Amino acid sequence: MRPWILAEQNLHHLRQEKWEVAVLPFGATEPHNLHMPYGTDTFQVEVLGQRACEKAYAAGARVLLLPTIPFGVNTNHLQVPGGLVCSVNPTTLLALLTDLVDSLERQGLRKLVLLNGHGGNELKPLTRELYSRTRMFLCVCDWYRMGADFIKQLIEEPGEHADEMESSLGLAFFRDLMFPEQADAGAARPSRFEAINRGWISITRPWHLVTTNTGLGNPHAATAEKGQRLMTLLTERLSQFLIDLAASPMDENFPY
Ligand SMILES: [Zn+2]
Repeated sequence: MRPWILAEQNLHHLRQEKWEVAVLPFGATEPHNLHMPYGTDTFQVEVLGQRACEKAYAAGARVLLLPTIPFGVNTNHLQVPGGLVCSVNPTTLLALLTDLVDSLERQGLRKLVLLNGHGGNELKPLTRELYSRTRMFLCVCDWYRMGADFIKQLIEEPGEHADEMESSLGLAFFRDLMFPEQADAGAARPSRFEAINRGWISITRPWHLVTTNTGLGNPHAATAEKGQRLMTLLTERLSQFLIDLAASPMDENFPY
């Protein structure tokens, strides 16, 4: 039994702890090129959540990892031929988060970290929506943003989805579910609009048009070692924040 994971707890143990911080991971269930499992985003965010909470808990922080939400926003994947996608709308995530915040707050929890592992889940607007409705401190960690500076140095061919970075994490943490020899090159099809290609205009991209087999970014240079190095850095950064957050009193100037 790992005492920092809610799903492994029993009431006997929970009653003896006073929890300072909860971590709620958000994943997705969607295709990742031809070689990675549908659960990729969920598996990755879960490994990070478990490791970061373990490290923070060992350092004395009363941090609790909640179960991962396996469904994410991927309405733009629904026309991918032949695949199955379990998608929810942003408003559904908001409804779920509202209920969870309400129930956790009733039991005295005041700090919640939303740990996101899927690019389609935009959680920041949800925290703005809830800002005036709750006294709970809500914050967002998109792990790929938290590690962006390191990822730039680590990854030879930067991509977005089922790319070298994600494939490296897969090789490191769920090797049995990886089939690198099946991957395509993850090439992106350009839009007819130059402003979209340059990033001046953004759209919800129809995934069946922009990709060949849902991958964006060439995964061929992925290695387990890169995945391990990235996870070590992410764990370090997130656990330190959890330790600091747990130790900080919520006075009138919090979080400044
Ligand atoms: Zn992914």
